Amino acid sequence: MKRSEKASRILKMLEELYPETPVPLDNDSPFQLLIAVLMSAQTTDKKVNQVTPELFRQGPDAARMATLEVSHIQEMIREVGLAPTKAKNISKLAKILVESYDGDIPDTFEGLESLPGVGHKTAGVVMAQAFGVPAFPVDTHIHRLAARWGLSNGTNVVKTEKDLKAIFPKESWNKLHLQIIFFGREYCPARNHDLTQCPICSWAATKKRIAEEMRR
Ligand code: SF4
Repeated sequence: MKRSEKASRILKMLEELYPETPVPLDNDSPFQLLIAVLMSAQTTDKKVNQVTPELFRQGPDAARMATLEVSHIQEMIREVGLAPTKAKNISKLAKILVESYDGDIPDTFEGLESLPGVGHKTAGVVMAQAFGVPAFPVDTHIHRLAARWGLSNGTNVVKTEKDLKAIFPKESWNKLHLQIIFFGREYCPARNHDLTQCPICSWAATKKRIAEEMRR
């Protein structure tokens, strides 16, 4: 099957499986979304959603967050991984937003990626979900699935993002990004899975991937 045929079949299946794609991280503003995404590195969205109600009650916007002590932020987010580093970044970032952006968040990749703790993937999620700009943030689920489905060779996330952008229509990117994540969470166990039982891998996995699975 040609890659383009495979891509449109995957797109159709994911649309049937996940017609709605609610944003997984609870937030009331682009600022809160940015903070939530920053905190989601190395932890689950569920855990982030457990700590953000209190964090956003005390620091709902950049101006109020900038007044909180780093140690206090750390205490509020202690249950998410890497809390000391994330607390420092949240505090620094809030101060920068107040000083340089009037308390708003920048709406460009360059501006977002210049902020502490904000990498390309975080910036992509914010551009997509806060500003509706087409982006394809590649996380581990997407990276792994793109390789298994033979849509990218899996060299690195930069290459995967480039390959997925080339094969899927731009207007599908923001929704598809979430649909693949939802699929990965629902269907992909960490190990010991049977490709023949999977709704997509059963027909889309490449021979190379199938052979790799058999060797495990
Ligand atoms: S076989 Fe299914 S469950 Fe396993 S990686 Fe592929 S998509 Fe995920």
